[in-house]
Amino acid sequence: MAALVERDPCAHFAAEDAYPGLDVEGAVRRLAAALRFRTVYRTPETTDFSAFDELHELIRRSYPTIAALGTFELVGHSVLICVEGTDPGLPGALLLAHQDVVPADDAGDWAHDPFGGHVDDEWVWGRGALDIKCMLMGELEAVEFLLAHHGRPRRTVWLAFGEDEEVESRGATALAAELARRGARAAFSLDEGVSTFSDAAAYGAPGVTVADVCLSQKGYLDLRLTCRGRGGHSSNPFGGTSLERVCRAVAALAEHPLPPRLTRPVADAFRALAPRVTEPPFRELVGDVDANADQIAAAAARVRELYPLVCTTMSVAQVMGSASAPNVMPGDASATLNLRLLPGTDADDALAWARETVGEGVEVDALHHTPSGRLDEAAGVGYEALVAAVGRFHPDVTVVPSVMRAGADSIRYEAVCDSLLRFTPFRPDPAELARGVHGPDERISRRVYAQGIRLMIDLLERSAL
Ligand SMILES: [Zn+2]
Repeated sequence: MAALVERDPCAHFAAEDAYPGLDVEGAVRRLAAALRFRTVYRTPETTDFSAFDELHELIRRSYPTIAALGTFELVGHSVLICVEGTDPGLPGALLLAHQDVVPADDAGDWAHDPFGGHVDDEWVWGRGALDIKCMLMGELEAVEFLLAHHGRPRRTVWLAFGEDEEVESRGATALAAELARRGARAAFSLDEGVSTFSDAAAYGAPGVTVADVCLSQKGYLDLRLTCRGRGGHSSNPFGGTSLERVCRAVAALAEHPLPPRLTRPVADAFRALAPRVTEPPFRELVGDVDANADQIAAAAARVRELYPLVCTTMSVAQVMGSASAPNVMPGDASATLNLRLLPGTDADDALAWARETVGEGVEVDALHHTPSGRLDEAAGVGYEALVAAVGRFHPDVTVVPSVMRAGADSIRYEAVCDSLLRFTPFRPDPAELARGVHGPDERISRRVYAQGIRLMIDLLERSAL
């Protein structure tokens, strides 16, 4: 029951004639201009911030209505734009994206200069075309259109563009702190998420095309297991060498994983799909998702596509401490494991599980950690507007709540935003995405770019006016 990935996302496009006043040619030109700035973030000391300065200049001079009605500020090198709404009592709408792109060290493999902003009849080429300058510039296009056609909205609209999402998310943290300092509150946010349609075969509903709206994100935890060894001759490895004990500890964790669990977004996805779930084992279970939650979680854990959505996963990444020769016992040995925490499971839970499971004689230490996200509801003004906007521009697609597997800036805004929506309105061909997102020949088609902008205009018309 492998999920089939849709090959042609444009087969699910509709209403492409909406907003005839939308300047698609200009939008493409402005996106290409943004792609020419090498906004690669490395460290605060080694980043060339002049590329970010140039991007800021482009933003400031390209959107006259935003410039007239809004304020443009820098928080470090991150951008905060505020268009005050006419109803100060209403919580705002927060549009997120990041300015930074990953490097393009493989420039020789590209058909066009990754920072050349090449445009042809079909494509806009360049590093960041998909991740995620399309969203940054697309949000500006949508807000500019909204303001030019409707004037100041009722709801305050913020645009917040961090500088280092691919590295640290310090920019997003600072932007969120600045919003909090002002007492700002957003009803919802929109940030990058899943950007492909997929077939719901994994859920037991083959033939149903779904779009994920991620309402939470998984946490990140690197764990190190260490066993002490004295080294020496290998003729008496009484009790096992340090390396053997580390291997046994890894095996114990793999054999006693944290149990699968159905979080609210995934339960809601099964609920949304229930009438169209035709395949066992879910067919028999989705009639009452709450009563069968544990069985659904256990069954989902056996499906490759759903496994990360219902499990705290453990990837055994590194083992260190081999001896110098087969007849020598190793000294200290360690294994590093990468855990992706299910929302609702925190680092302390994972540490307690690991310590209890490996038992005596194995040291367990937490290294790098990012908490999992809050579980937001599949409800509220932003969510409902997004579902309606998807329904207009992709009418044969079913929106399903989900959980983002990778980290992103959104989580930094939990304190100032009631509903964090992670959804990329730009729907490239999955093969395009797989090759291009951090690889060579990253590009977005004019058609996909324009449709994403329309979807965001519609979302704002429904939610902000
Ligand atoms: Zn990104």
